[in-house]
Amino acid sequence: MIKLEGKSVFGGVAIGPAAIFRKTDTTVRRETIDDPEAEIVRYHEATEKAKDELQKLYEKALVEVGEDSAFLFQSHQMMLDDLDYVESVENIIRTQKTNAEYAVATTGDNMAEIFAMMDDAYMKERAADVKDVTNRVIGVLSGVSGSGMNASEPVILLADDLAPSETVQLDKSLVLSFVTRHGSTNSHTAILARTMNIPALIGVDYPEDCEGKMAIVDGAAGIIYIDPDEKLLAEYREKKNEEQKKAELLEQLKGQDNVTKDGTRINIYANIGGVADVASVLENDAGGIGLFRSEFLYLESEDYPTEDEQFNAYKKVAQMMAGKKVIIRTLDIGADKQVDYFDLDKEDNPALGYRAIRICLTRDDVFKTQLRAIYRASHYGTISIMFPMIISMDEVRRCKAMAELVRKELDVEGIPYGDVELGIMIETPAAVMISDELAKEVDFFSVGTNDLTQYTLAIDRQNPRLDDFYDPHHPAILKMLKMIVDNAHAGGAWAGICGELGADTTLTGEFLRMGYDELSVSPSMILKVRDAVRNTNLSA
Ligand code: PEP
Ligand code: MG
Repeated sequence: MIKLEGKSVFGGVAIGPAAIFRKTDTTVRRETIDDPEAEIVRYHEATEKAKDELQKLYEKALVEVGEDSAFLFQSHQMMLDDLDYVESVENIIRTQKTNAEYAVATTGDNMAEIFAMMDDAYMKERAADVKDVTNRVIGVLSGVSGSGMNASEPVILLADDLAPSETVQLDKSLVLSFVTRHGSTNSHTAILARTMNIPALIGVDYPEDCEGKMAIVDGAAGIIYIDPDEKLLAEYREKKNEEQKKAELLEQLKGQDNVTKDGTRINIYANIGGVADVASVLENDAGGIGLFRSEFLYLESEDYPTEDEQFNAYKKVAQMMAGKKVIIRTLDIGADKQVDYFDLDKEDNPALGYRAIRICLTRDDVFKTQLRAIYRASHYGTISIMFPMIISMDEVRRCKAMAELVRKELDVEGIPYGDVELGIMIETPAAVMISDELAKEVDFFSVGTNDLTQYTLAIDRQNPRLDDFYDPHHPAILKMLKMIVDNAHAGGAWAGICGELGADTTLTGEFLRMGYDELSVSPSMILKVRDAVRNTNLSA
């Protein structure tokens, strides 16, 4: 048994096999091998494994999307048995004494080129299939699955680090816990772990040979045990049961009011990254969605999501929430959330760079497409829009002008839309200092304490070395929070907090005292915050 210590990102206990996330690196290197026949056997074994994967995908697709779409996976299986393909791979390995990865990649490239040159449109399209199936075999050969995670049962996922673009591809139903070597407690992987309500650790230097071994993660203590003995396993199974019992007690708060002992009410909403999170929002009885991080729709796509694709996602969320408020934050990429097809330049200081509203205000096409999709969806529920990273009145006016232009266009086209509140995130010190003026321009403020702490304390939220300095309880932040809510109310706007601090139950009483109208937290934290509200007495 080995015991490794790291830093806790989210509490809880997870027990299961360890799996190492490997970056999807499709660059294939040519290597000379001594035993071509053994390499050919390795190639055939990988092909069989790839076919098994495809069979599972076929069966899943058959249930979820029907025969026509599922057929694709069968055709991929057939391609792997194609005699020309197999002979080409074997020939390259035998005659050139190269590794199987190289032989498969070369064969795939050649075949794809032949298909691409054909006149027939259908055959042309097969080039992409050959590439896809080739990448799958290379993935198996090099131990890298499509999503970077090789698992068919729930696992404790160990990774060097996870970028938001990688986490969106994970099959989350198979992740029991995240454990990373790098990353910071304020990163988006940490936020994801909280949303999923699973234990997570950072700063753990795990050995490479722990793949497949049994492991226990103690999220609160910041410990992972690999290969635990039976005694420890039994102890942690018991701990997990106790956690389950506590969760059941919180369950009793479902359907109850968010009201203090002396009668002060507050809205408790949820933060989400996409349609899939709505189930846990409903499950945990949130009053609405206070932050829909819409950039995850862009991170999940290979290209700019179209107006219709976005409309369908926003409409679905609005309909599932059945009239409860859904606050959609417009695109907030840049900094740690990089999207390849935006082709953003590398920057020396990305957190202070071209991100969020700065991109939208210089990319009318992107901004207008998103606003049209949101307005169209607003006809199907109660939707509000909020703009991130605001620093000036001018930016707010430009955002509002674009929203007005979109409404006018929809009027002309006869497309209906609802009554949409417009708000801004207060996450820069500049916005705090002019919040008296900003409040008169918008319907609401939502404080992004993650970025506000980063910019106020001059601490990169992504830098793990600074975790101990990153103090969201710093008096500067608490004073700002009071100033923001006072200015909001004086200017006729309501105010909420959607950064991670909103879920800090040691401050719930303080937020209520300050006069906040709403706290938006990870779905897993809703009932805990409700419990804290109901145990507060402001007149005591
Ligand atoms: C924040 O900055 O507090 C926030 C809610 O936004 P994000 O974490 O997505 O930057
Ligand atoms: Mg932010």
